[in-house]
Amino acid sequence: MSSNALNWYRKMGYDEFYSDRPVNRLRDHQQEVDTSMIGADVVINTEASAPSTAAMNADRAMPLSAMNNTQMHLRVAAVGTNLRSIPKRLGSMGPSRQLASACDSLDALYLAIREFTGCELKKSATNTVIFDGNQSSEIMLIGEAPGATEDEKGIPFCGQSGKLLDNIIASIGLDRTMTYITNTVFWRPPGNRRPTKEELAICSPFVEKHIALIKPKLIIMVGSTAVESLLNVTQPITQLRRKYFDYTNEYLNGPIKTTAIFHPSYLLRQQSQKKLMWFDMMGILEFITSLERPIVR
Ligand code: URA
Repeated sequence: MSSNALNWYRKMGYDEFYSDRPVNRLRDHQQEVDTSMIGADVVINTEASAPSTAAMNADRAMPLSAMNNTQMHLRVAAVGTNLRSIPKRLGSMGPSRQLASACDSLDALYLAIREFTGCELKKSATNTVIFDGNQSSEIMLIGEAPGATEDEKGIPFCGQSGKLLDNIIASIGLDRTMTYITNTVFWRPPGNRRPTKEELAICSPFVEKHIALIKPKLIIMVGSTAVESLLNVTQPITQLRRKYFDYTNEYLNGPIKTTAIFHPSYLLRQQSQKKLMWFDMMGILEFITSLERPIVR
């Protein structure tokens, strides 16, 4: 291994060797992957041994949430992600920014998030929770963080507040298959606390790249944590709702419209505010039907 690569590993926090020989995990599909090695494996072994086209095609049809680590590796090899060039191109950035910047496909981004170890939340989480819905959707909903049910199942908004969110979007004729749903962080904060500023900052490059790869026409920020992550403001939703902002980030070529709605868990506590949500959703319906090529007819 070159001294550049060794230096990069040291900078990323890999300060121990697990073996004095490289491990080709792509060769043995049955082998259980040691997760402490995965980051290194992705960087070193993307060209180690070409997986068969049949294996790659079989995996392409499989949802990422159902994949084991070996299958994820095959998928990465299949999409041709070149994470090996990160150190040269992006050496002075934080690890999540480096990884996000190197991802040129959703598959690569999902893998990078799953294997990322730079966020403390991951330590107490059962699952990495990345997305649900339709990758081709033009409406992206961004919530706060996985809760207990989401952590258990690995799917965003699949608990009680998710059921309410389903009803909210159903009020304007949408369902999950017509939207793309994700969060500001990908691991459940202990006790369902709000993610800290640091946790939001660590995950935000992934959120930004997520938005750039989905390229929605409208981003709906679900709750004030999503507003904080995307717009870097801490105003309450009561002051932001029904307004449309131009959102941009370093991966986008132009702005994307974004609006904020109450978080469903807030509405579960404050039932009287539900009627405001109805007006907000009518406004969103108006916005999306006014687009040149309406998303909802
Ligand atoms: N609340 C959120 O903000 N996101 C989820 O995925 C679940 C609950």
